[in-house]
Amino acid sequence: MTTEILNGGWADAGSPAWRVYEKLDSEAIYLTFDDGPNPHVTPDLLRLLAEANVKATFFVSGASLTSRSAQAILRLIAGEGHTVGNHGLLHEHDAYPMFDQMHDEIFKICGISTKLIRSPYGYFRNLRRYLETESVAVAFHWSVEFRDFEPLDAAQVRLGLSQIVPGSIILLHDGVAPTALYKDRSQVMKLTETILDYARQRGFPVRDLAFEFPTAYLVD
Ligand SMILES: [Zn+2]
Repeated sequence: MTTEILNGGWADAGSPAWRVYEKLDSEAIYLTFDDGPNPHVTPDLLRLLAEANVKATFFVSGASLTSRSAQAILRLIAGEGHTVGNHGLLHEHDAYPMFDQMHDEIFKICGISTKLIRSPYGYFRNLRRYLETESVAVAFHWSVEFRDFEPLDAAQVRLGLSQIVPGSIILLHDGVAPTALYKDRSQVMKLTETILDYARQRGFPVRDLAFEFPTAYLVD
């Protein structure tokens, strides 16, 4: 698989140290859900994904993992074979999000060692420290977003769908970042169904990110 290294002025262009993907060279598309687990949404989402027989990626946040119910949902995500990604212990951009501590927290809760990472708000600066020290770590940005942390209208959904091509990494939100003003994530259910229908019509397989990067993802 060839890769696209993001730099966009954030990093030294072309440096092999930066394994940050916004899109993969693949026939599949990748659903990624950030900021969870969310007891109000994630269990329903897991049922929807199971019915559709697809695997997705959940970039979970330490800010959403403080309750026992959220930790139980993380075990469910892992148990159903979805990819668990690291979205930081802290959902911060001004402070280091503590990716290494979040790695250990995820391992403690569900026995997965994941070096698949997404920085809060997509900030690259905070990834540097982690990517420099973790030789197998792989970071992900996204190539399609729906801005589903706000109420969406039909035109926004159509616009997002029109941007989906093979290899797209699609940013969605099942969880609520601490700074989010709009906290209802229920629309992600319908949105996910719509994207899955679209993928089916176009013949795009839907896969999770650990499938593509197995060496960065160890299940205990
Ligand atoms: Zn986030």
